[in-house]
Amino acid sequence: MQGPRWSDEYFMGINKFLDFNFEKVGTHGKINCPCTKCSHRLWYDRRIVVDHLLH
Ligand SMILES: [Zn+2]
Repeated sequence: MQGPRWSDEYFMGINKFLDFNFEKVGTHGKINCPCTKCSHRLWYDRRIVVDHLLH
């Protein structure tokens, strides 16, 4: 049986990263998405950024 593609630890890391970003650079509840597709160019709300980072 295989584990999930992302571990709880990874998920916690993402959340910490997002908390930090929302405090520092969050604007209107959005941050620039750091995933490979967006490369900080596009702004999304947290839920979508998490989604991007998990894929
Ligand atoms: Zn993205």
